[in-house]
Amino acid sequence: MISNLLSKKLKKYIAITFIVFISSLSLFNVKAFAVGEPTWNYTWGFAKGYSLAVKSRYWQYGTMDWTSAISATQSEYSASPANASIRVSSSNNYNDCKIRLKSAEWTQYSWWGITDEATDVSGAYTVDLNSYTVSKSFSSSSLEWYKKKITVHEVGHAFGFNHATSPDYVMCQGYINVNYLTSYENQMLVDRYGRYN
Ligand SMILES: [Zn+2]
Repeated sequence: MISNLLSKKLKKYIAITFIVFISSLSLFNVKAFAVGEPTWNYTWGFAKGYSLAVKSRYWQYGTMDWTSAISATQSEYSASPANASIRVSSSNNYNDCKIRLKSAEWTQYSWWGITDEATDVSGAYTVDLNSYTVSKSFSSSSLEWYKKKITVHEVGHAFGFNHATSPDYVMCQGYINVNYLTSYENQMLVDRYGRYN
């Protein structure tokens, strides 16, 4: 009788321990899967406001046309639940634009895109899209896919994203798995800029 009772208690104990063990494993796994997510650079980005629509302008110097990638990037940020979007204008007013997108052929470098913060008081970011390196890196079938990835990624820097190390985030460098803002990145944007409504 006592041994039966003990054995029941032991079974219960073992069962509970097992559940706790499995739960801690899955917790551990969740953490492990989240490794490599992007982080914020709080010295970059824009002030949180009621209507954060960042004016952008695209200048094309060279043969590669980035217009469709930029248009897809504008749609990507517009579709985000966050109050963070870009409006690509055809205006020539340089000072008006908070993100200045420019494509050219920088043959001496090995990068696809780079974003710099303006040193003047404009608070603007300059995104350079390296047509030469990009044209050398991809077959025509993946070229448009990567042009969008590069543009979404660089605009992400302007909004303040640091790099991710997991290729499952658009903020990861190099050859990666997504060319759009993931739900994780969208949630980060919502946390920082608020929800669009
Ligand atoms: Zn980057």
